[in-house]
Amino acid sequence: MKGFKEGKNNLLCFGLAALLGMGGLGFGLTKNGEVSRLESELAQANQEVVHLTDSNQTLENEKDALISELEQTRTTAQELAVNAMAKASKQDVPAFSGSASFVVSEEKPALNAESLFDELYVKAKEGKVETTAVVLGADNVRQDWQVEEDFEPLGWKSVTSDFIESDQFYQKTRLVPVELMDQAQDGLIVAGTPAFASELENYFSKIEDYIAETGNHVTYRVDPLYEPEAKLCNGVFLKARSMEDDTLSFDVFVYNEQPEFVIDRKTSDIRDLKKEAEEKKRQEEEARKKAEEEQKRAEEEAKRQQALAEQQLQSQTQAVDNQSTLVWIPRTESKYHMHASCSNMKNPSQVSKEQAIAWGFEPCKKCY
Ligand SMILES: [Zn+2]
Repeated sequence: MKGFKEGKNNLLCFGLAALLGMGGLGFGLTKNGEVSRLESELAQANQEVVHLTDSNQTLENEKDALISELEQTRTTAQELAVNAMAKASKQDVPAFSGSASFVVSEEKPALNAESLFDELYVKAKEGKVETTAVVLGADNVRQDWQVEEDFEPLGWKSVTSDFIESDQFYQKTRLVPVELMDQAQDGLIVAGTPAFASELENYFSKIEDYIAETGNHVTYRVDPLYEPEAKLCNGVFLKARSMEDDTLSFDVFVYNEQPEFVIDRKTSDIRDLKKEAEEKKRQEEEARKKAEEEQKRAEEEAKRQQALAEQQLQSQTQAVDNQSTLVWIPRTESKYHMHASCSNMKNPSQVSKEQAIAWGFEPCKKCY
């Protein structure tokens, strides 16, 4: 509109300039009449421009209002459709017992009003997705898409363990197998265990393989399950059903759990049960070894004490024995004897064995 307005103004200016030039050549009164006529035409043209600009703006506004109304209507329709579909509840799911997912129903899930979900529907509250639904097809399904490295989903925490293969315990896990724009990452990318992330990828692969083979579409819905105040979900209800035929469908719950780990869903802290068991075993082994060593030491000490007591008793007995036993000592030899007639002793003396030993006599080999 601006171009049109300027164009018309330029034309009028040129006309005025020409008339003024003619006035200079001597057509006084007529020229003045022409000027006021052209001036009034210019005013009218300007008014027309203003009017056209206004009506254009009105049309633009009407168009925006219609688009917004359309979006609103679609969202409302999506919401109604989502609410109409049967939603599984926590009661339908048994406690985690090591299996990554649980089949909620073998029936084909009721995912009606599929075309409503050509555009990703997301219902979220405080950064937690309640429901998301989308129709997946060759044009939007993306297997190779990676979460940005610096994006941290709710409850994400850097935690490591020797008993998992990945560097980090928590995986930045997307709930929908499509490329997510920045604004859509919140709530659609969650902090998940390695087992959770891997099980979701298994289901994504099933869908993607099916779409790649058939070119068909799949209606897909996820309902994460959160405890109040939890930052990490307990898991997700996942439903999918192929649209053009009925060859692909599932209705499962995928646990955000990891075998041998206990997760605090408020703080994201983990208890590594395997590591704890190993530590306990190590401590028990240490205590057992220590007890064994102590027992061995105590036994050795007891033995030593016993030997000492025996030795003392022996030397005491010996001393008593030496005092009470009488022996014969010769006048010239250095041996003491039991028998006075031994070794042809002449006039041997009888003394206590103790005395004989004290004087330096040694026992006779024949008598003792
Ligand atoms: Zn002798």
